[in-house]
Amino acid sequence: MFIPTTEKEVRSRGWDSLDIILVSGDTYTDNSYNGTAVIGHWLIKNGFRVGIIAQPRTDVPDDIIRLGQPNLYWSVSAGCVDSMVANYTASKKFRKDDDFTPGGVNNRRPDRACIAYSNLIKKHIKGKPIILGGIEASLRRIAHYDYWSDSIRRSILFDSKADAITYGMSELSCLRLAQCMRDGTEWKDTPGICYISNDVPEGFIEMPSYEECSKDNASFRDAFIVFRDNCDPITAKGLAQKHGDRYLIQNPPSRLLTSEELDSVYESDYENAVHPYYLKDGKVKAMETIRNSITTHRGCYGDCSFCAIAVHQGRTVVSRSEESVIREIQGLASAKNFNGVIQDVGGPTANMYGIECYQKTKLGVCRDKRCLGDAPCPKLCIDHSRQIGLLNRIRAIPGVRKVFVNSGIRYDMILADKKRGEDYLECLVKNHVSGQMKIAPEHVSRRVLRFMGKPGPDRLLEFKKRFDDCASRCGQDLYLTYYFIAAHPGCRDEDMAELSEFCHNKLKTNPEQVQIFTPTPSTVSTMMYRTGTDLAGKPVFCEYDQQRRHRQKDRVVGRKDAKHRCDSQDTSSRRVSLRRLCPYAKAQDASPLCVPDKGRMHLDGTIRLSRLCTGQRHKGLLQGNSAVVQREEVRPARFPHRVYAVRGFHRRQPSHLSPQGPHHNDEPAG
Ligand code: SF4
Repeated sequence: MFIPTTEKEVRSRGWDSLDIILVSGDTYTDNSYNGTAVIGHWLIKNGFRVGIIAQPRTDVPDDIIRLGQPNLYWSVSAGCVDSMVANYTASKKFRKDDDFTPGGVNNRRPDRACIAYSNLIKKHIKGKPIILGGIEASLRRIAHYDYWSDSIRRSILFDSKADAITYGMSELSCLRLAQCMRDGTEWKDTPGICYISNDVPEGFIEMPSYEECSKDNASFRDAFIVFRDNCDPITAKGLAQKHGDRYLIQNPPSRLLTSEELDSVYESDYENAVHPYYLKDGKVKAMETIRNSITTHRGCYGDCSFCAIAVHQGRTVVSRSEESVIREIQGLASAKNFNGVIQDVGGPTANMYGIECYQKTKLGVCRDKRCLGDAPCPKLCIDHSRQIGLLNRIRAIPGVRKVFVNSGIRYDMILADKKRGEDYLECLVKNHVSGQMKIAPEHVSRRVLRFMGKPGPDRLLEFKKRFDDCASRCGQDLYLTYYFIAAHPGCRDEDMAELSEFCHNKLKTNPEQVQIFTPTPSTVSTMMYRTGTDLAGKPVFCEYDQQRRHRQKDRVVGRKDAKHRCDSQDTSSRRVSLRRLCPYAKAQDASPLCVPDKGRMHLDGTIRLSRLCTGQRHKGLLQGNSAVVQREEVRPARFPHRVYAVRGFHRRQPSHLSPQGPHHNDEPAG
């Protein structure tokens, strides 16, 4: 059942007022991928009356006053992504598209949305506490580096003038706040919240102040280390950070939800649709990929330095029960409009489902080592049996035709599982991957990987061999697609050259999925970017110049010397420039392609293949991400070169995951 968004809907529920009003920077999609909907259903389940106002206009009061004043508090979130990340690229250019806005145009989410919405409420309908939540508030809860203003900013609580922040996954803290406010009891001792105080509570650790952090990199690094060491629900202490003459107080985190509680959260009565109030403004693209996707667990112990998931969701994985996942899919399968395809069964990392360290669950996460890193910790006892069993059960559900695993896979975990790793890989290859399997080695230079906290290139090559062997054994025409990062702290031009050589010589691919590093708030990599040092205080090279950051990416995706190199090193294929193939190709198409003389080739990336076709439109010649390649002479008068025409269409990425957006195959040929 939808959560009310209008007064009429409130009354139709038999409610005369609302206890809590949730305000969000994303539109209101009613499913478990929308944190606002998750919190709303959770609070309703626990007896509170909740309404939602999504993407309110900030220039007029009409939207924000629509539901009146809540009895208890306002809960404000920027959405499922930090609003500055959602609105700007790594080069600080404005993003035009937004998959979480009806119609797909990025015109509804203000910059620094938590601050904007908080000001909006204070201006037009003040009187009740404002509680910030979601990833933006969570990762900006202490003094932090802000890439977009290139400065250390105060805790978002000071800038927004809100009353508190619920940080991390906040079902329990939101519920306790609501109960305390309803009962008129003290709420400031609620775990998992931050608030402002004149004093430091007893036993809390005082971090370097905001003023010290903004003046001195060493103080900022020290504050970050204290922050990072006090995120675990079992071992963390309360923190205090002075801002001016007051303190930001961070209570220790909430405990993790139990599996049973997680089941309950994900089995709320979601409509799995966009609320009609917002749907009238257009299609919400993100729904295409999340409608039939299933979350099996929370948390990630990958703990990659650049990633915010471990900071927000925690480094301990909590898994749902198999029965709960099966019940959710049975519910989907019984819906009239279900097409038989489950788009994803996963979480932050798909193959962490059901695998956790026993010591961590009792004593908390280790502060001095990573669970994965270069080699998995033996205490993880990696065993994919539970996931194999779950996937087997899902495939057997009546009405389910196909089940994909599109969440990321940690290939080093598959290699480390001596008992069932091969079975899991075979299970994926045979049943759960189509055309390509996406993995994220992120780099191959050992120096850079050490800063990222990722495994070395030898593991990648070992996995590639295992994957290729498995695919050919199973008779599947499958390929690996790789995600890489350019300009990460520690990464110089020569590291990108090494990556480029590795891709062409060892992986035999021309990667297109190369992101330029974006320093998002409160990650280890961002701390390195700001201070130019690692956690131990040792200097780290960081590329700050935007042109040179781009040049690092171009070293891998735009090799001008590709033809010569490929010809000399791989006689089975030839590298040609798209510009040479087709003068009508646009600049973004002008990447070199590795084209075999004949047969099948893997298409990795975002090239609009139809622009290459010199004759007619070609559809249906591809399977998955591979293309039929033919050698042709085409219109010698206009195109004097012998060319290689690549026919077919490009498999579409989930558009909300792909920064380049979807690609179409229906453009007129060159
Ligand atoms: S013992 Fe190993 S797996 Fe467990 S928390 Fe520590 S590093 Fe992680």
